[in-house]
Amino acid sequence: MNRIWKHKRTCSYLVILIIFITTFPLPSNAQESSLPVAPIIIDNVPINTKYMMRDGQIHVPAIFFKHTGAQVDWNEIYRSVVFQAKDKKVAFPVGKNYTDEYDRVTRSWNRGILSSETIEFQNEVFVPLMEVAKKLDMDISYDHKAKRTLISTNLYVKSNGMNKRATSRKLVALTFDDGPEDYYTPKILDILKEKGVLATFFVVGYEINSYPDMMKRIVNEGHGIGNHTTTHPDLRTKWSVDVRKEIVTTQEILLKTIGRKSDLFRPPFGAITKADIAILNEIGMRNILWSVDTLDWSGLSGREIVNIVLRDVSPGGIILQHNFQHERLLDGTVEALPVIIDELHEQGYTFVTVQTLLE
Ligand SMILES: [Zn+2]
Repeated sequence: MNRIWKHKRTCSYLVILIIFITTFPLPSNAQESSLPVAPIIIDNVPINTKYMMRDGQIHVPAIFFKHTGAQVDWNEIYRSVVFQAKDKKVAFPVGKNYTDEYDRVTRSWNRGILSSETIEFQNEVFVPLMEVAKKLDMDISYDHKAKRTLISTNLYVKSNGMNKRATSRKLVALTFDDGPEDYYTPKILDILKEKGVLATFFVVGYEINSYPDMMKRIVNEGHGIGNHTTTHPDLRTKWSVDVRKEIVTTQEILLKTIGRKSDLFRPPFGAITKADIAILNEIGMRNILWSVDTLDWSGLSGREIVNIVLRDVSPGGIILQHNFQHERLLDGTVEALPVIIDELHEQGYTFVTVQTLLE
């Protein structure tokens, strides 16, 4: 009896707590921002964003709209955010309650009234969610029951991501991110050479410039390469023009250093928006993620890394490891590598580059 009552009481506390959380979303990181965070459903996918209320309207960071597939940029001269989706191009100037929409036929900008102005807050630009969505011909509605805003973008961006190859053949790809450098990379290359195994290195532009000889060694020893941006930013926080620059600059650095580019890309932290994928599609690059996350960057031991690989590996899989020398955290990566190769060989796996895996 007592237990049932206790259970009931816990349940009602839980219900009250859930009502409280859904009604008053809690800030995700109180130190970083005082703003509340809530998910907005974009084409059926919930994506968290901080937001603020102004003039009875929800305002979100302008950059959040990259999740819809729209390109989002900043024009410093006019101090305005410029959104582009399909044939639409609309500017939202900061501190103004109007928009300027580009007319491609007359090649002129037409002014439109806005019911709530674009705001700058803590070095970020916040735009009225409803108004931007409507200007970009997206359908937006509010589900009162679920207390959620829903956006149907009417924008198609070809999904370009791969975290493994669908195959029953026992193929597996080793990948190393964030290099080249000259502490761990030579150790990794030595092991791969000794074992006769090819891997794929997702390289960072500024590291290629710092270690061009190591970059050349990777290529000369037959390994695959992929582009991992120029400065390793979280692409979700970057204007579209800067995302493009991050990708294209590393392509140019590769061309200059080893005489060719790569058609593979991996976003830092695996973090990417639909707008960034649209850029990759346009450049003709594939977005490569992983199916086995060794978490080696956190300083795991060789044994721990091996255990993760043996637990999560499957045919067509892509294994994520790193080769950066910051804080020398990757002793485990080097220690694990020969064991991973031997164990997986024993299980009948063949190691291939990501390029080969895709063929
Ligand atoms: Zn990385």
